[in-house]
Amino acid sequence: MVNAEIIWNQCLEFIKKKIDSQSFNTWFTPIVPSSFLNGTLTIQVPTQFFYEWLEEHYVHILKQAIDVVIGNGAKLEYSIIVDKGNAYSAPITVNIPNTKSSLMPQDNVREVYNKNDIHFSSSNLNSYYTFDSFIEGDCNKFARAAGLQIAQKPGITSFNPMIVFGGVGLGKTHLAQAIGNKIRQLHAGKVVFYVQSEKFVQLFTDYMSNNTLKDFTDFFMRIHVLIIDDVQFFANKGKSQEMFFQIFNHLHQSNKQIIMTSDRAPKDLEGLMDRLLSRFKWGLNADLQQPDLETKIAIIKSKMHSEGIIIPEDVIEYIAISVDTNIRELEGVLTSLIAHSTIIRTEINLELAKNILKTVVKEIDADVGIDFIQKLVAEHFQVTVDEMKDKTRKKEIVVARQTAMYFAKNHTNLSLKAIGYHFGKRDHTTVLHAIESVNNMIDTDKDFKLAISELQKRLKFSK
Ligand code: ADP
Ligand code: MG
Repeated sequence: MVNAEIIWNQCLEFIKKKIDSQSFNTWFTPIVPSSFLNGTLTIQVPTQFFYEWLEEHYVHILKQAIDVVIGNGAKLEYSIIVDKGNAYSAPITVNIPNTKSSLMPQDNVREVYNKNDIHFSSSNLNSYYTFDSFIEGDCNKFARAAGLQIAQKPGITSFNPMIVFGGVGLGKTHLAQAIGNKIRQLHAGKVVFYVQSEKFVQLFTDYMSNNTLKDFTDFFMRIHVLIIDDVQFFANKGKSQEMFFQIFNHLHQSNKQIIMTSDRAPKDLEGLMDRLLSRFKWGLNADLQQPDLETKIAIIKSKMHSEGIIIPEDVIEYIAISVDTNIRELEGVLTSLIAHSTIIRTEINLELAKNILKTVVKEIDADVGIDFIQKLVAEHFQVTVDEMKDKTRKKEIVVARQTAMYFAKNHTNLSLKAIGYHFGKRDHTTVLHAIESVNNMIDTDKDFKLAISELQKRLKFSK
């Protein structure tokens, strides 16, 4: 028992370093080590779903962890709680060995080149990143369409190089890899290679210090489609840039396709050689923007569909409206939602979604605020929150509603669209109009002005 715990804690240490903290807390902290016998570590997971999720998403990391901690040949077994039990009966569990016994670190890794312990796998592409799973929206229409054209005719279109740029979590890596995967599907003979710029720098340094730079350049010059992610990492790495410059020129001259991503527009990249930057302007620059509401809803639906999970429409809308940062964060919220609903065995509903958003996403604290604002204002005007969200146009209710909208705008970071949503799914123009009306009333009605400043104080006080 003690053994299992010690081993598991070491595994957790290992895993913690490999994944982000939200996923770690969601999927690994609820696991309880139950035994370690004959080289088999058994871990207890809360539900069947939980087990399936781990097997689907984290099996490689789990396997790596137990290999490192216990040694080769170690086995993993899950114990799944199928009945939580109560004070009189112990929980019932079933044990299942971990199924993916081959446990290769990547499904389709074929070694093309392997020297000095540095591995170039055949493509480094993640097969999940496809065009099918890359939902189209106004935010990415152009980049997506250009990517598809490149996939049809790599190296031949004038989109060479292609640079996909945009903020974190907006889909740069996904799109760049989708192009690579599509090319592999359409043009079997082409060598596609994906590498992060950081990794490129590291490989280059290793090869240089081993005096095997020629192997390095030979390898890169044989590639037909080079995908290089996050080129902003090349900043101030002069030698790596020089190397990349040579590879770039060679590939470009021989009509090989180059696809790059960057967290900012090429003109804003700093610490890069002018020669290199001017090359970046030869081809096509396409940016990815923040997704609008419709796109977020479509993305949520598609993710849930692929996980085989159904969640109510109102929950989807609520999440889409509340998460205003990026798609990665949107996915994080969905994952937490699924995890919580399976651990506490409740259906996914609006209440659960609200609770999770409060704890998971800091930026959404503001949303806690809107409930409070609605209550406070409703109380003051002696109407109910429901009436405020309702269609009614009775004067006192309209004033209360408009006042609450006004405070929501000033005291939360919600967009006009999101505020409208919290008031019976009204339009953002209604919110805009409400704010104007309140400002007018403040200017013309002394009593109203007083009421506003009273409410204002109470809102500040409650913060
Ligand atoms: P970036 O490289 O820009 O930081 P990623 O490509 O890693 O962002 O995307 C973050 C997450 O969001 C990934 O899991 C990705 O699959 C998902 N994602 C991004 N854009 C879309 C989209 N248009 N449709 C579906 N999923 C998307
Ligand atoms: Mg990325």
